[in-house]
Amino acid sequence: MQELNAFTIAQQQVNTAGDKLGVSTEIIELLKEPKRVLEVNFPVKMDNGSVRLFKGYRAQHSDVVGPAKGGIRFHPDVCVDEVKALSMWMTFKCGVVGLPYGGGKGGVVCNPKELSQNEMEKLSRAYINAVAQIIGPNKDIPAPDVYTNPQVMAWMMDEFSKIKQTNHPGIVTGKPISCGGSQGRNEATARGCVFTIREAAQRIGLELQDATVAIQGYGNAGSIAAKLLHEMGSKIVAICDSRGTAHSMDGIDPYAAADHKAKTGTVEGMAGTTAIKQEDLFTLDVDILIPAALENQITEENAGDIKVKIIAEAANGPTTPDADKILFKNGVLVIPDILANAGGVTVSYFEWVQNLMNYYWSEAEVNTKLEKVMVDAFNETFKMSKEHASDMRTAAYMVSIDRIAESIKFRGWV
Ligand code: NAD
Repeated sequence: MQELNAFTIAQQQVNTAGDKLGVSTEIIELLKEPKRVLEVNFPVKMDNGSVRLFKGYRAQHSDVVGPAKGGIRFHPDVCVDEVKALSMWMTFKCGVVGLPYGGGKGGVVCNPKELSQNEMEKLSRAYINAVAQIIGPNKDIPAPDVYTNPQVMAWMMDEFSKIKQTNHPGIVTGKPISCGGSQGRNEATARGCVFTIREAAQRIGLELQDATVAIQGYGNAGSIAAKLLHEMGSKIVAICDSRGTAHSMDGIDPYAAADHKAKTGTVEGMAGTTAIKQEDLFTLDVDILIPAALENQITEENAGDIKVKIIAEAANGPTTPDADKILFKNGVLVIPDILANAGGVTVSYFEWVQNLMNYYWSEAEVNTKLEKVMVDAFNETFKMSKEHASDMRTAAYMVSIDRIAESIKFRGWV
């Protein structure tokens, strides 16, 4: 049975891509571990008057090309290995789209579903106090992740600004627009993903206006990707969420699906659709598959039955390394997570740039800049994959490692 630990998978990817590039062992070893991991324990006074001690982390994988960047997760399963792995993925995600950032990730072990709004605010502020020494607009810039949102980012920005006695909107991204957030950030992950799908389709001669699509996950990434592809003429034939599925060969209206989910809590049961088994969504005879929910969904068990031409990984880590080999052999074009979902961190970068210059762009400006970043990154990755006869994931790591290794050498770290 293959080890599905995110950290070891990322380390394997670094080995494979580094070897293919001919990068030195010193650089590969440097990239396989985070530069710094901070563990903090901090008290929060709860609504009932008791005081609870919470444990949190901040991992900074690399800061060689710029400050660390990555989300903060509030979840009971947060652990040091998880933040280390996620910080490493952030380094390579920023690298493949050429952002001047390294990777970071943080988390607090807690169950937000059991916390009041008041306790969430105290926890968010206390965490920032605990990690304030190692973060900063030019050191490490957090963002939202699982169970943290624009409100949490606003509290964190406010707390950091109080500590420093200076307004610091650039300390976190993913803020509300009124606190220095960027236009277009909410749609950025899906929009970026759809730009890469459009480029991939052109390369294989697939017309998006005739294409059929299946999407796992109907949250931020999945539902917005469905709407954007629908607007480009593609037919969404299957969608699902954690509670159910909807399938129609005539096509699903993604707006009606979002309304149905808002009213009933699931996409299942909407008019004109039938339910299918969750696992059957992956093996439908469609052109494009977008995993937009969870890790480890495409494995050696189902990869051989996948019939699509393009898989665009809006989710992080949906495909296992064994499944990758099968998909590559079968000629499926996989747009890997570090490329396909990099639109989110790209617009976070735009938010930070706008904060630093205190001058704000329109949504159209943001989208145009996002398109250029995503198209360039897709082209470089595609070219690398052709030059080295490799799958797109290895090629994306190669593009990224090539950039980072050059900076490491110039700075004299090895
Ligand atoms: P979200 O919480 O808005 O939506 C997740 C969706 O997945 C929901 O519809 C949920 O019902 C569904 N889901 C959960 N468990 C499922 C299951 N067992 N089967 C089918 N569906 C299931 O989350 P999101 O922001 O859209 O993120 C989705 C994925 O995209 C995650 O892997 C996330 O890390 C990745 N991602 C998101 C962003 C972003 O900016 N939103 C950026 C980069 C990567």
